Amino acid sequence: MRHGLSPYSGSVNDTTLSGVSVLVAGAGLAGLAAARDLIARGATVTVIDVRDRVGGRVWTIRDGFTEHQHAEAGGDMIDEDQHEIRNLAAELGLKLSRILRGGFGYVRPDAAGHARILPRNAMRGWTRMAAELKALSNPYRLAERRWESPITADLARRSVSTWLDQVKADPELRATATGLRGFFLADPDELSLIALIDQFSDNDATGPGNMYRIEGGNDRLAAALAAPLGDRLHLSTDVVALSHRGKVVRVSVKNNRALAQINCDYAILALPATLLRRMPITPALPAQQHEAIARLKYGRATKTLLQFSKRFWRAPGRARAFGSPLPFGAVWDGNEEQRGRAGILSLLAGGGASDATQAIVAKHGARGLTDALDFLGSKGSELTASRQIVWEQDPFARGGYAYFDPGFDPALRGWLARPSGRLFFAGEHTSIKWPGYMNGAVESGRRAAAEVAAVHMAPVAT
Ligand SMILES: Cc1cc2nc3c(=O)[nH]c(=O)nc-3n(C[C@H](O)[C@H](O)[C@H](O)COP(=O)(O)OP(=O)(O)OC[C@H]3O[C@@H](n4cnc5c(N)ncnc54)[C@H](O)[C@@H]3O)c2cc1C
Repeated sequence: MRHGLSPYSGSVNDTTLSGVSVLVAGAGLAGLAAARDLIARGATVTVIDVRDRVGGRVWTIRDGFTEHQHAEAGGDMIDEDQHEIRNLAAELGLKLSRILRGGFGYVRPDAAGHARILPRNAMRGWTRMAAELKALSNPYRLAERRWESPITADLARRSVSTWLDQVKADPELRATATGLRGFFLADPDELSLIALIDQFSDNDATGPGNMYRIEGGNDRLAAALAAPLGDRLHLSTDVVALSHRGKVVRVSVKNNRALAQINCDYAILALPATLLRRMPITPALPAQQHEAIARLKYGRATKTLLQFSKRFWRAPGRARAFGSPLPFGAVWDGNEEQRGRAGILSLLAGGGASDATQAIVAKHGARGLTDALDFLGSKGSELTASRQIVWEQDPFARGGYAYFDPGFDPALRGWLARPSGRLFFAGEHTSIKWPGYMNGAVESGRRAAAEVAAVHMAPVAT
């Protein structure tokens, strides 16, 4: 019997779980990737999601835009070295479009507060940040980047802003750190220094390489994963409670106010920790696991999609994506691979910028944000459509994605992914290498499915 998964391998196909019932809570990429592997192993699978659509935080918006254009309200870019999601897309017959070939540029306010594009310079931005963090990254590397190490604990209880004060950071370094809220979704005073160090001490990181998105919309990946599920997928259905005793997992679900109970052999919980922590589980999870799930923070994230009649931001030699410490956050060409004269700019405002960008729109409408993009040539542009999605107000996400704050004990991180009896955990937040990414979600779902198979083949005492 074939059992193992090679790294980035394709589909699993064996009968390890034949006759075994598994409930998957959450039809985001993690839950859907888990379901696919479980089915390939012969399991009887039920997938439940409270939304009326699959994909969770992958959500392609098509309504309202002219020229049949679309853009991503959630997960957008796929990196070159994100093999799990790239291979999965290829297996499902989906094509990736290469995007943002010029990489990210930087925008800063000048002395008068006007946004200006910085000239390209190797020691700017991320490169400069990596150099500044080197002295702290080295001990972390000696700890082999283990989160149980006292080295990690020492780094983790400091915030990024405390570190900036300690190294007497100049305004440029501070602006870079603030601009990173478009990436971590947390301001320097909210973010643990370990999050930054972890990012910049990855030996395997090849830097910002090629970037892609799925042709026709990232939601095509979720749709392709969901298609074979048929009536095994239950949408608009809420998982409200779980009990796991002996060999049975009892899952209480609610649909249209009607409560029902589903009994199964195993359950994979592929829900954001923000929702998982509200769910009664009996018997309770181990104290450390409960604590890890309860304490994990999720960043504020507002995505604004602005469609204009012309792509005024394009200019020879100029990047099509920019990080900034300004209230609009990061901005990039949101649909360069699509046909038409019109074009969409995607703005991601994380942490405090999320509040600031909402305030601009509340006061001046989407035109207020357009005015803030003056540095790209927005003056006189024709705004044809706009959408704003505030993820911290989404009841089924309650934030953009997970981040580690100085209050999170790093030794608890491993508990986020640890199985408990017949319950297994997946989701972006459980990923060690790719937290906050679609790739991390896919990988975690596949990992959880493989764990179910492993436990089933060699049951541990519960
Ligand atoms: C604004 C934004 C920008 C992003 N940009 C990128 C990017 O450029 N590149 C990238 O790789 N990633 C990006 N991400 C992250 C990426 O979208 C996520 O990491 C990934 O989609 C998470 O997948 P998941 O399956 O872990 O969780 P989710 O997609 O959140 O899936 C969980 C599912 O559980 C469901 N659920 C919740 N509670 C219950 C319940 N009680 N019962 C039943 N169902 C429930 C939810 O409805 C949801 O469908 C971005 C995210 C956001 C928000």
